[in-house]
Amino acid sequence: MSDAARPPLYIRIHAADNVAIVANDGGLKAGAEFADGLRLVDNVPQGHKVALVDLAEGEAIRRYDVVIGYALKALPRGSWVHERVMRMPTAPELDGLPIATVRPTALPPLEGYTFEGYRNADGSVGTRNILAITQTVQCVAGVTEFAVQRIKAELLPKYPNVDDVVALEHSSGCGVAIDAPDAIVPIRTLRNISLNPNFGGEVMVVSLGCEKLQPERLLPPGSIPIADQRAGAAPDAALDVVCLQDDAHIGFMSMIDSVMRQAEEHLARLDARKRETVPASELVVGVQCGGSDAFSGVTANPAVGFCTDRLVRAGATVMFSETTEVRDGIDQLTSRASTPEVAEAMIREMAWYDAYLKKGMVDRSANTTPGNKKGGLSNIVEKAMGSIVKSGSAPISGVLAPGEKAAHKGLNKGLIYTATPASDFICGTLQLAAGINLHVFTTGRGTPYGLAEVPVIKVATRSDLARRWHDLMDVNAGRIADGEASIEDVGWELFRLMLDVASGRRKTWAEHWKLHNALVLFTPAPVT
Ligand code: CA
Repeated sequence: MSDAARPPLYIRIHAADNVAIVANDGGLKAGAEFADGLRLVDNVPQGHKVALVDLAEGEAIRRYDVVIGYALKALPRGSWVHERVMRMPTAPELDGLPIATVRPTALPPLEGYTFEGYRNADGSVGTRNILAITQTVQCVAGVTEFAVQRIKAELLPKYPNVDDVVALEHSSGCGVAIDAPDAIVPIRTLRNISLNPNFGGEVMVVSLGCEKLQPERLLPPGSIPIADQRAGAAPDAALDVVCLQDDAHIGFMSMIDSVMRQAEEHLARLDARKRETVPASELVVGVQCGGSDAFSGVTANPAVGFCTDRLVRAGATVMFSETTEVRDGIDQLTSRASTPEVAEAMIREMAWYDAYLKKGMVDRSANTTPGNKKGGLSNIVEKAMGSIVKSGSAPISGVLAPGEKAAHKGLNKGLIYTATPASDFICGTLQLAAGINLHVFTTGRGTPYGLAEVPVIKVATRSDLARRWHDLMDVNAGRIADGEASIEDVGWELFRLMLDVASGRRKTWAEHWKLHNALVLFTPAPVT
């Protein structure tokens, strides 16, 4: 059906909600009448809220069966309900939360789903076969990039089974207060990214020489699990480091030759690897959203949540993140914790982030963007309720602090809260460190986000975006709002696409166009 022919349609999430969102592309004019007789008294843009009943001044505004605000004035039925006519609730206290109170009914395991992956010596599985070059410090970024261009042009064609060569460029490594307690966050992030399953345990480092973050501090002896080390290497094999300040280097080309010589050894070993059939339980999927709108919590995120539940039933790992976007729903999450310890860890991460924001004299409400508001999200409470849906309904089985890696804490399977800022690039970077081998990203406003290190599947929340960005969006969840597909339909489509992408049978649009965002470290410690 063309959109012009589509009758006025609103979407209410929960029977107790007193607002709903307008579904029609382009929004609706005052006077538009819905099937149930509700008539708009204002023009209402697409994705924005309409009052379903007369709201008195001070009355609670409910969406997702949660209070997302209080009316600043009387709002008659049919009114446009937006951020300027609402007061935001305060964040829930972190004391007295329900702890592990939900006892979800055990669902049968989901069996029989597999993908073709690269099995690593430590048991993890890669979805791509990539040579990553770790850097201790930003100073070496230009040299490394020069070498990577030559490796791609001159060496990579000789090793056709290797997908790519990626320089792990970042902005840190020196000029930071490296002994400050919070400096461990970027250090362990870089360490754990170097050990991402997509890099096959072939760790090589380019170092400057005089930097604060020395190679042995970044990757101390023993930090690379023995099983991660290349086959045949002694357990105490020296880290493979090219140091630019080394006396042996005479001239720039000597540095480039060193990097290329070392890279070729790793390329040869990576090239010999073969994909093998592995169960879907080997997926480690990071989910996040960016450029969200009011449809995020109605279409794309529920479809991702549906997938999350199936992945957990299949024995896989799903990581959800974005602390400021779950903060207002912390009670929903602590109640879903599988143990009191998991709930306490989640509260600890929220409290740490509250303090971090307070030091900057803001709170979680600093999260929302002009685009979010234009897309109908009035405040962080409403945004959070739509964001949390990505986590589905499975019990939460573990918590990782920023930069931590699942395997190193003995957390391998199930739904894991991986604490990260909501910033798309920082969240993606920290999820890479946590060990994801696939990334799912939902967007309503539209972002061309992508990562060089893992495939990123992008899900559009609206058909209008999916149509315009037909060669950037991998899945159109907008069909749910159009009434053309159910959450289950899109969820299964996404699930199958994940297995195809993980197997290398399908490339995502971000891979096709090589759209790669930078690694952005979370650096809560001071810069010097
Ligand atoms: Ca995000």
